[in-house]
Amino acid sequence: MKRIQQKSSTGSRSQLKGLLIASTLLILSSAAAQTPPLTDFGYQHMSPSHGPGGRQVPLGNRYCLVVLIDDANNGVWVTNASFYQSIVFDANAPNSINGYIKENSCGRFQLIPPSLGGAIGVMGPLTLTPAELNQLATSPGTATDGQVALSAAVRNGFPLANYDLNNDGTVSYDELVLLVVANQTARGPGQTTGFSASLAGKNCNMQVSSVPETTVFGRFPTVIHELHHNFGNMWDLYYYTIYSATNYTLNQQCTLAADFNWVHLDPWEKMCMGWNEPRIVSIAQGGSFYIPAAQNGDPTAPIILYDPRRGAGEFFILEYRTANRASGSGYDFEVKSNGLFLWHIHQDASHELITATSPFGFTGPDTKPFTDWVEGPPDNRTPDAAWPANQTTPYPTWNDGSQAIVRIRTSNFQDTDSGIFVDVLPDAITWVDFTPSILPQAGTFDLPYRTLPPAINAVGNPGNLSIKTSTATQSPITISKPMTITAYNGPATIQ
Ligand SMILES: [Zn+2]
Repeated sequence: MKRIQQKSSTGSRSQLKGLLIASTLLILSSAAAQTPPLTDFGYQHMSPSHGPGGRQVPLGNRYCLVVLIDDANNGVWVTNASFYQSIVFDANAPNSINGYIKENSCGRFQLIPPSLGGAIGVMGPLTLTPAELNQLATSPGTATDGQVALSAAVRNGFPLANYDLNNDGTVSYDELVLLVVANQTARGPGQTTGFSASLAGKNCNMQVSSVPETTVFGRFPTVIHELHHNFGNMWDLYYYTIYSATNYTLNQQCTLAADFNWVHLDPWEKMCMGWNEPRIVSIAQGGSFYIPAAQNGDPTAPIILYDPRRGAGEFFILEYRTANRASGSGYDFEVKSNGLFLWHIHQDASHELITATSPFGFTGPDTKPFTDWVEGPPDNRTPDAAWPANQTTPYPTWNDGSQAIVRIRTSNFQDTDSGIFVDVLPDAITWVDFTPSILPQAGTFDLPYRTLPPAINAVGNPGNLSIKTSTATQSPITISKPMTITAYNGPATIQ
């Protein structure tokens, strides 16, 4: 879309007025810390590195065409069109794609079938022409699957031109989702990619998810995983190249982004798709909160825990997950452990996840996962584990090795509960900075004490003393009550 610059002769005066109001507001509000908007944490960010950039978030409805291609050229199928009509589109069918999406998106998104007469939303199984079979044989790949399947669908009467919904001459990835199922078994378990084609008088610039039929009845969550790459620019969050079947398999059975299992998508990916709006809590503020289970469909269920001094780049998300909810496990029935999930997220200024080096003590090659994982008990160093009832976490660790001065306490709960209570416990810190200053001294971060005696006096019992990087000649110092002393932002030296 072209952006039109507007100029008018009366503009300058109203702009000035606007500026005055804006600066007044700024003065009034500067005293209170501003909570960053949810978009700063990645809300509705469709990553351009995991799908097309600048696309629409998956909200509302999107057409999805399912095409069954007889690429084995033998007419042998276990499934059929009516099976896919139910398992893809019927949200009330057990373990269906729309059922999964409905629950995960808090009722905000559904795939809808194109109307094709008899077989709603599903074409096939389709016999391929010799030319199409040859195309698959000579240039195998996911994009070819998309081109061949769509071509065969059009040849068999699919009204493709109707799905150029905005009539711009192109059927785009935001207008039509393509799912291809093949009966040849010698294929990868499932993949998604962009493809283009020129068909029915339209350019097609679409995404295709392609799976063999064996994946459909062998590991169906992979089909759903692929579709999230298709409509949602989902990141892949599995790390088992080296650590498969060890304690260090990261994210498996914690998020659909790790493939394989009937589990919910992680709350950060949901947020990127606009499927939830977590509550935002400052680690300096804390409080007591009720966290509904993920499958309850409450978009405000998760809690983003962030440090205002660090900003919105690195943060934690608190989420309650359980496979044993008394009112039904929903689509989280294979979640790895039940309880409080402490997700650790670290993104760059463009809301792209950063890779962390060797978290959890990973060693060897391929140990730089994207920072979107669960940190469990006893010390935040166990991946993929949940915090049980009546636990208090230690201080979580940021990726630079420093500690978040906050602890999270779970209340008493059963994993059959549909929600849990947690306390976010900020620890009061008394601040010291030996660097000379004429500012008043209050022991706060902004107005620290300049010497140790008043700070030690002010610290609670037990309490926390944090010394900003600086040097003092103040020894010997006598401390006669328990306290935790940390150096902030570098070494603090007392000579
Ligand atoms: Zn994937």
